[in-house]
Amino acid sequence: MSNLRLDRDWHTLSSEEAIASLGTDRDRGLTVEQIAHRQVDFGRNQLEASEVRSKFSILVDQFTNIMLLMLIGVAIISAWLDISAKQFPRDAIAIAAIVILNGILGYVQESRAEATLAALKKLSSPTVLVLRGELKEIRSVDLVPGDIMLIEAGVQVAADGRLLEAVNLKVRESALTGEAKAVNKTATKVFDLQEGLGDRCNMVFQGTEVLQGRGRVLVTSTGMQTELGRVALMLKKVENEPTPLQNRMGQLANILVFGSLLLVAIVVGVGLWHGGNLIKLLNTSLSMAVAVVPEGLPAVITVTLALGTQRMVKRNALIRKLSAVETLGSVTTICSDKTGTLTQNKMVAETIFTPQYLVQVQGKGYEPVGQFAISRNTGDRIQSDLSVSECPELTNILTACVVCNDAYLQQNEDGEWSAIGDPTEGALLSLAGRAGIEATELNVILPRLAEIPFSSERKCKSVVCQFLPIGDRKGRYSEQLAAIGLQESQQNATEREGQPAHDSNQYLIFTKGSPELILASCDRIAIDNQVLPIDLGDRRKILDQNNFLAAKGIRVLGFACKSIESLPPIEEIAANESHLEQNLIWLGLVGMRDAPRSEVAEAVAICQQAGIRPVMITGDHQLTALAIAADLGITESEKDRAQTVTGQELESMTDPALDAIALQTSVYARVSPEHKLRIVRSLQRLGEVVAMTGDGVNDAPALKQANIGIAMGITGTDVSKEASDMILLDDNFATIVAAAEEGRTVYTNIRRFIKYILGSNIGEVLTISASPFLGLPDVPLTPLQILWMNLVTDGLPALALAVEPAEPDIMQRPPFNPKESIFARGLGWYIIRIGIVFGLLTILLMETAYNSTDPSWHQHWKSIVFTTLCIAQMGHALACRSNSKLLIELNPFSNPYLLTSVVFTTVLQLALLYVPMLQRFFGTEPLSLVELAVCFGFSLLILVWVEMEKLVIRWYANHSHKQNP
Ligand code: ADP
Ligand code: MG
Repeated sequence: MSNLRLDRDWHTLSSEEAIASLGTDRDRGLTVEQIAHRQVDFGRNQLEASEVRSKFSILVDQFTNIMLLMLIGVAIISAWLDISAKQFPRDAIAIAAIVILNGILGYVQESRAEATLAALKKLSSPTVLVLRGELKEIRSVDLVPGDIMLIEAGVQVAADGRLLEAVNLKVRESALTGEAKAVNKTATKVFDLQEGLGDRCNMVFQGTEVLQGRGRVLVTSTGMQTELGRVALMLKKVENEPTPLQNRMGQLANILVFGSLLLVAIVVGVGLWHGGNLIKLLNTSLSMAVAVVPEGLPAVITVTLALGTQRMVKRNALIRKLSAVETLGSVTTICSDKTGTLTQNKMVAETIFTPQYLVQVQGKGYEPVGQFAISRNTGDRIQSDLSVSECPELTNILTACVVCNDAYLQQNEDGEWSAIGDPTEGALLSLAGRAGIEATELNVILPRLAEIPFSSERKCKSVVCQFLPIGDRKGRYSEQLAAIGLQESQQNATEREGQPAHDSNQYLIFTKGSPELILASCDRIAIDNQVLPIDLGDRRKILDQNNFLAAKGIRVLGFACKSIESLPPIEEIAANESHLEQNLIWLGLVGMRDAPRSEVAEAVAICQQAGIRPVMITGDHQLTALAIAADLGITESEKDRAQTVTGQELESMTDPALDAIALQTSVYARVSPEHKLRIVRSLQRLGEVVAMTGDGVNDAPALKQANIGIAMGITGTDVSKEASDMILLDDNFATIVAAAEEGRTVYTNIRRFIKYILGSNIGEVLTISASPFLGLPDVPLTPLQILWMNLVTDGLPALALAVEPAEPDIMQRPPFNPKESIFARGLGWYIIRIGIVFGLLTILLMETAYNSTDPSWHQHWKSIVFTTLCIAQMGHALACRSNSKLLIELNPFSNPYLLTSVVFTTVLQLALLYVPMLQRFFGTEPLSLVELAVCFGFSLLILVWVEMEKLVIRWYANHSHKQNP
């Protein structure tokens, strides 16, 4: 097996030679045994580049944090002080231990978070379509050399390979060559040995993007053997940019560190000026420096973000960049595709307008069985009960439906029908199927020779078929089609002077697409078995029919065809330069319904309450878009044309003109992907935080530009997923709203525990800095005790606050301003205020205890301060659960983690006081019951204070509300 030679110059071989040398069967692919062997021989199709941050660098990063650096400084000074005083450097060792522990904890947490993200990424791991006996979808890591894989527009090529077949194939190879221009690929040519990578047009390479067309590829190398694998070292590393929040926390750390150094300088300076003892003042400063640093905070934030991503994935939103979690909380505009995201993307064709007939079709889903009601589309409309075969116009348009189509229908074991491929085309297939017109039969008479594929820019699609009337046994199509081809010539010869008569009709072209566009390219119309010039009246009638359907929210496609006598060169067709889509014969319209997703209307309502504006972006007709938008509540009324802008209008608008209307526009219709980029940019200029959905290759720039680029998990292309920040596993608009809600919860909780943690830090610092000025003999808290508080007794409840359930009104208030500081909306003041209350209470207690005549009080003053600061934080944690609701108004069990952590932490603190070993280590003394009760009582005052604040705010809000109703 392993005598396979992969190091060949594949581009110099013909496809037959390539297939032979890889031992593959062109039509069946590899055998099961071959695959098994090759998987052993060649390994997984995976790049082993340094995709993830190395463990070592994660660990080192933990210690580069400025707060930990300051602690290390504190440890060194403290060790020096102790050793020069001939004491055991206990604090220094404890601080060093905590620094290391903190580093390890941070490391564990960050690698966990990273592993979570990696696991999430795997959920969206790419798959490929391969030929293994039959067509199969496999994970791209399982590809082996010799596999035959299928590629199509939107795919990121999974391995290197030699093309066996290429239809209009255009590939962007910038990942490999840096060249952004698309490369045309071919399967038939063979190239010289010295041809450069970028010119080997019969090959495709791993990591490049298929922009157009499709192809069949013989895989020649996988994994690290691919061209991309060879340059893996140059691969851009996974960006590990800090999230905005992490950036802000970095700034906060700087403020805290420099602020505390300043405070230390002041305390030492003033102390010395008052004739204080330098060593004592130094000790005070060391404690202050330790106290100000919220050692537990970074870990809690990392955990919160990671938990946030997990909750989001449970709600079908897969986060690809950690920063998206918080940005989601600030989203102000969601630009969403209509088809598939707001609607179900399950199309059902229900109405046909041929030039003379109106056809109503009944049927369920994609099942190719149903009834037709055909009536003459004249004023009276009554003449009914024609059968399909009696109506040549209908046969023509249904033929076009089937021929100009790349989907196929499938029935599962339960007998349910589904469409593989474009749902629009699936609906057309089942429509034709309902009339008994099937692809198998038509493909014989009309084999496809070439095509001009559909794209969202072009909004139409054409196929060129050879016309072989002999293949049709019953002659039922041939006659019909001959009518279009042959009679057209006769018609031309007799009725239309000046036009050359055609006497051969070898090729037929079928075109379908946006009705306005198709109609504009028609100069004739097929009426019954005749082809006549189209006049203004016809055009007006057709546009009326189109608007009539569109206004009901129906997606409308126009159909046309023509015959040509000679085939232009294939390259010309592929490049769409042959004017094939001109001078067409109008066949009719098909209207299909795509029902809105049931949960979307509610999600739209939630958005509006939450101050998030939903915007619909679609390639469909503006009336169709408007009808659905009104149905979902995106626009206020169906008549509200002012809220709609079309791609054409956009085209003629300057950027300032667009900015002037962007905030009022809720529906963009008939747009192309490049318009999306302009829309995002305009909204961003206006200060909006934009989430934008997209699924196609050409949506990628808009997804990158948006604050949150959202790709579709089911219908999305690899390229769009790669460009996104978040993937919707169910393609559903409601999922975006759910993710935004989670984003808000995460952000609120982060603010919640920051407020919780920092308040007590300030209290500690104040208490310590007061001690030398109150004439106390010693620092009330040792660095070790402070570390204990900051890490354990603050850290555990903070973690629990991080999982506090969302407040019920979280989606009833405006989005967070992404530029606001973390201390905005009163948070900074709260921290300072609460810090001062903390400080004053403890200082008061400290003074009283130290000066007490009771020797036990006097002796225990330090432990009393230590215990009060700890226990007060327990009450504070409970109070921090809600900004507005009192503790007694909340269900105490809705956050069981908090209750548990409060009880557990209190027990730990008591253990520190009463377990002899811990006493010695932490330097505590056992408090008497009364002393303990006083500590608890003082602690409770913090809770009472915060609750009183809420009451005052509430009273004030009510009061001012009454005054100016
Ligand atoms: P959206 O995805 O926003 O609904 P598309 O870009 O898919 O819009 O489609 C835009 C228009 O192109 C449709 O309104 C329809 O007229 C036309 N169209 C859609 N799908 C096809 C197709 N498979 N073949 C030809 N025309 C199509
Ligand atoms: Mg579409």
